[in-house]
Amino acid sequence: MPGRVLSVASECVPLVKTGGLADVVGALPKALAPLGWDMRVLIPAYRGLAAKLGRKTRTVWSDPALFGGPATVEAVEAQGLSLLLLDAPHLYDRPGGPYSDGGHDFPDNPERFAALSWVAASLARGGGTDGWVPDILHAHDWQAGFAPAYLRFGGPAPVKSVITIHNIAFQGHASPERLAALRLPLHEFHAGSLEYYGNLSSLKAGLVHADRITTVSPTYAEELMRPEFGMGLQGVIDARAEVLSGILNGVDTDLWDPAAPGQAHPYSVQNRKPKAEARAALLAEFGLGPVEGPLAIVISRLTAQKGIDLIAAAAPEFLAGGGGLVVLGSGDPGLEHAMRGLAAAWPDRVGVKIGYDEALGHRMFAGGDVVLVPSRFEPCGLTQLYGLRYGTLPVVAATGGLADTVVHANTMALAAGTATGLTFHPTDVLALTQTLRRCLALFADRATWARMQRAAMKSPVGWETSSRTYAALYEDLLT
Ligand code: ADP
Repeated sequence: MPGRVLSVASECVPLVKTGGLADVVGALPKALAPLGWDMRVLIPAYRGLAAKLGRKTRTVWSDPALFGGPATVEAVEAQGLSLLLLDAPHLYDRPGGPYSDGGHDFPDNPERFAALSWVAASLARGGGTDGWVPDILHAHDWQAGFAPAYLRFGGPAPVKSVITIHNIAFQGHASPERLAALRLPLHEFHAGSLEYYGNLSSLKAGLVHADRITTVSPTYAEELMRPEFGMGLQGVIDARAEVLSGILNGVDTDLWDPAAPGQAHPYSVQNRKPKAEARAALLAEFGLGPVEGPLAIVISRLTAQKGIDLIAAAAPEFLAGGGGLVVLGSGDPGLEHAMRGLAAAWPDRVGVKIGYDEALGHRMFAGGDVVLVPSRFEPCGLTQLYGLRYGTLPVVAATGGLADTVVHANTMALAAGTATGLTFHPTDVLALTQTLRRCLALFADRATWARMQRAAMKSPVGWETSSRTYAALYEDLLT
């Protein structure tokens, strides 16, 4: 029997997004609704968010003193979602992004997201004044990590909890001096509960106290129990292996539809012309000369996790061999500099935009031939999925969700017509260089390339399978 789920997170598409977490949190309710699940999403009312919605809201929860100030929860239906906005101006009404003022993390982030988790647990336990009481609390990442813990510390509750790890690199550490301020019991500060190498960790709290743990791909679920990927939490996760599962993310196929009339460059695989047009437009947009080889795109946070340094090192041979490169992203200043350096050295072949731009991202998937994702670790990854959908073949490191979603062009897969991209291992410059060499050769073989594009565009990147897997997990929890 389907039920009600309270999903709690710090980001949700289309309202606030810094990465894949937001895509998934925004897509899940829509994916689960056809299966009968009623999911509401609780997120902070960051500055300007309520105004952006511009609709009538209903107050369903209030507290005159939530972690140092008054707070309400406003329910609103918007963008096809049932949203619960935690309006607490002292915590969220400030300039900058969700986590920082643009340069530095907000020093009160532990309180800001503990408050979000506290409210989630409170709503899960007693419901809102409108009578909506969830059956399941679904927390996402460290920002919601304390929610399952608060739920447990409050005594027996008829609500089960799930935590999803979208990226274990972020663990929500805080000094133990903040225990009382975060409304956490002092006696829970030990290695079996909240303590992590002398600090508090909200992600660990969630991993220990949730009834189920999920992550966003089957391969990442296995990797997380190894020291190379677990980032110190491998033991905690391994100890709970029996409640751990990996469920692949899907993509919102309405927002990412190469054939949608509203899209800048519609592209259907039956007709190669629009792809060529989109490619030409993209080259023109970046002022690049003719590129006879594959045009590779990178749409990413520019960080070591994403292997951007490997791209900087491997690109020259690829470019000399006829390839082109367009990069959209921001992040580590050294990597931004490296990308700008490539563009300066290859002005006709490399375009770089430092920044965040959803619309440009769409145009790049439409116009690119290849999407490069050489991540050192990748819980799921979304850009390779968008690439598949747009016939923009993924060249990816064989890790996490990348390994689960891209079918490498080995001899058998090519013969069977199932190959959709190229994967490589280990994640280093040599392997990427060799793979890009292979990519140049494959692209030159137009018939094979087109066959791979067709297979890619048929890949099941939507939520059909995964929504059923989540529903089965929820049902299992309720019975
Ligand atoms: P992560 O969540 O680790 O950053 P994902 O691949 O899971 O990586 O998700 C990244 C999401 O953010 C994708 O939807 C991608 O298209 C988008 N994205 C990343 N950087 C940019 C950017 N600079 N401009 C537009 N979209 C971006």
